[in-house]
Amino acid sequence: MFSDLIIYNYGEDRLAQDLAVRYVQELLNEIQRLNIDTSKLSVIDGNNCYTETYNAIGKIIDDFGPNLDTSKIYLYLYFLNDCGRNKQDKMCYGLNDKELQYLKKEFGGNDYKGTLFNSIIIAGANIQLNSSYGEAMWNIIEGGLCINVNVAKKSIWHEVAHLLGADDHYDKDTKKPKKICTDHLNCLMQWNSTQGKHFCSKSIAEIKGTVNKKRLH
Ligand SMILES: [Zn+2]
Ligand SMILES: [Zn+2]
Repeated sequence: MFSDLIIYNYGEDRLAQDLAVRYVQELLNEIQRLNIDTSKLSVIDGNNCYTETYNAIGKIIDDFGPNLDTSKIYLYLYFLNDCGRNKQDKMCYGLNDKELQYLKKEFGGNDYKGTLFNSIIIAGANIQLNSSYGEAMWNIIEGGLCINVNVAKKSIWHEVAHLLGADDHYDKDTKKPKKICTDHLNCLMQWNSTQGKHFCSKSIAEIKGTVNKKRLH
């Protein structure tokens, strides 16, 4: 099966959206160059894709941004992915009644529910997040989500690399390099990814370990 990387822009910035789509495609080209099998991954421009399933996510982003709550968006995805079908069922309890009513009203009774969404990438300089660059949760195998406040190419590469299996190579508290990083001066998984040049050998191995798994959606 295949996994889609679906990209949305918050803020109706067409240029930023076009750039984000291009950057994610360039990231796939880069990891392919590193002998990682990208044949099961595809980049989809969510803002330019008018299928109803993708618009369901776009509507959530429009309705709830710019105060996107990363964990809530993830729960919405699970609702649309038909929570109740698997062990993630209990995650829906993280939604409050108003939010559940919203989802049921908007999406519950139609074809959106039960659709498998893979990885969602949201870019938008106006999104309110605590992180200065972005946040990422889970990965392409489980259906991931990343939000990019900093929409520079290397910052987007860093967040999307998380979806592809790469870990942070810096300490969350001190922002200093972790010992696992094999090229901390240049690694894109360091704190300030915009100063990075490439993925270190350890992060490449992490991506390979995830992407080469054959149990994508
Ligand atoms: Zn990170
Ligand atoms: Zn590294």
